Amino acid sequence: MTTTTTPSLSDTYLSYIGGQFTKGQATSTFDVINPATGERLVTLPDATPADMQAAIDAAVQAQPAWANTTAAERADVLRKVAAKMHAEVDRLARIMTLEEGKPLAEARTEVAYAASFFEWFAEEGRRIYGDTIPSSSPDKRILVIKQAVGVTAAITPWNFPAAMITRKLGPALAAGCAMVVKPSELTPLSALEIARMFDEIGLPKGLLSVVCGTDAPALAKVIMDDARVRKISFTGSTEVGKILMRQAADTMKRVSLELGGHAPFIVFADADLDAAIDNAVACKMRGMGETCVSANRFYVERPVYDAFVERLAQRMGGMRMGNGLEEGVTVGPLIEPAAVDKVRRHVADALAKGAKLLLGGETSGEGVAERGCFYPPTVLVDVNHTMLVTQEETFGPVAAVIPFETEDEVVRYANDTPYGLAAYYFTRDVGRVFRLAEQLEYGILGANDGIPSTAQAPFGGVKQSGLGREGSRYGIEEYLNVKYVSLGGIQK
Ligand code: ADP
Repeated sequence: MTTTTTPSLSDTYLSYIGGQFTKGQATSTFDVINPATGERLVTLPDATPADMQAAIDAAVQAQPAWANTTAAERADVLRKVAAKMHAEVDRLARIMTLEEGKPLAEARTEVAYAASFFEWFAEEGRRIYGDTIPSSSPDKRILVIKQAVGVTAAITPWNFPAAMITRKLGPALAAGCAMVVKPSELTPLSALEIARMFDEIGLPKGLLSVVCGTDAPALAKVIMDDARVRKISFTGSTEVGKILMRQAADTMKRVSLELGGHAPFIVFADADLDAAIDNAVACKMRGMGETCVSANRFYVERPVYDAFVERLAQRMGGMRMGNGLEEGVTVGPLIEPAAVDKVRRHVADALAKGAKLLLGGETSGEGVAERGCFYPPTVLVDVNHTMLVTQEETFGPVAAVIPFETEDEVVRYANDTPYGLAAYYFTRDVGRVFRLAEQLEYGILGANDGIPSTAQAPFGGVKQSGLGREGSRYGIEEYLNVKYVSLGGIQK
């Protein structure tokens, strides 16, 4: 591990509140740690509830004028920031790798992906159409208009430090909303870089605030208690999503929740095995397996099971683990020592219950914080459904593989979870493609596709994976109220 810090990072990161980078009311600080080295990258003032309140007050001031701009004006702002993101991709990707750990190439991909939400919603904002509906009386007309919901808030996770913000902020601004963002305390720098770019292109002050602090429940409570915040969009754990949904009830805020998943990845014997392997590796290893759509359980039809596990282990074993800033590294560290602990716990539990290691595993948890939060690509076979890996999100580079005999059996296995975010299946049988599309209880299906996420498609889950959709034309609806106007007195 050679390069660990970058000269472009200085201790000048501050929360962005009401159009100012400011220390706010902070009386303490917190460190952002590089998970590849355990080193401190930056120290930030730890934002307080008063800072969150100031951000909301500023949003309330700024939002009405923004809602009155034209869609073209709002699109212009989003497009300018997207262009900046592309122009600054080297810097942004480097900062992301430093704070989150993902390899630089993946960080670059995320920056482009994050910008794509601004590009998509810049256009989608022009298509906020209403309706006219045939009326029940000759004397009346029925009109439907759509309007910005008002002030909104986003609470975002660390695993996609930029894209999980832009996927919310893009539609919010396009629709005419203001947004207060509370990014993960583990990755505030990418969030503040986004704020800087909006500031540089002259976004009206107060429309966007990025409040960085460690007391997430206290900061969130200010958002949830304030009746002027009309919507909360959250990406993170199911546990926290449930807390926020309960809290939203008191002010009847709209909620969008992108929560945990437990994605099955199903390979039928008639699949294109090369494609299945390529996609399995991509789906499992993107972000070191720390994504809510990462494959958590691999189900492989018996006739191709041996070939699949052997090739999967070979491919995952060929990946290079290290500091994501280094050339050629394809597996970075996990986000923090607790993440490594969870993966170790899942693997130990599986081994204790009879699974076997075909690749990877790790014996010692000593000194993880100092030597970097690394956990090697791991393949477990002889897995069964009593093991934690088949029940909880592992959020790490562990592929747990289970053989199956019939289509009915595997559909049952796949659906036997409280989660319903993403599922993947590989088959050349077109009838089966449709059958499974209808039978699998998930919001996102990758049929012969391990990487389905894209700005123009609706992303979101069913069951305990969440509510609402992000991206696509459905995504902007989450930021719009439907208003019905009944116009009487038409007849003379
Ligand atoms: P993850 O496991 O992906 O870190 P979390 O749900 O813990 O998911 O975190 C996602 C976001 O939610 C982060 O910004 C975090 O600070 C925030 N968060 C954590 N706990 C709470 C809480 N009790 N109320 C509101 N936000 C929270």
